[in-house]
Amino acid sequence: MSAYKPDWNELEACRESLREHMEIIKKLRVTEEYWRLLVETGASELKGVVSCGWTLDHDGECWDTGCGHAFVIIDGNPEENGMIFCPYCGNKIAANASAS
Ligand SMILES: [Zn+2]
Repeated sequence: MSAYKPDWNELEACRESLREHMEIIKKLRVTEEYWRLLVETGASELKGVVSCGWTLDHDGECWDTGCGHAFVIIDGNPEENGMIFCPYCGNKIAANASAS
């Protein structure tokens, strides 16, 4: 068994992938925490760190997403409907249903 040595093509592909990731991030509104973690730990640690805050509107009918969309759930909250990630921005849903 010899030690793994990436060749230059692999390194270039890796660099390209990172560049694409950075382009996507630039288009999103991300927090300073997100940037700090990206730099310090790398992208694999970011899952679940960035969340999209969902709040139930005052009528209790429509959820306003943190990324600027509205979503109607017929019955229950996002969690009760098995929703983990925001369908718009892809971040983890942090539902805040303080509505009575
Ligand atoms: Zn979202």
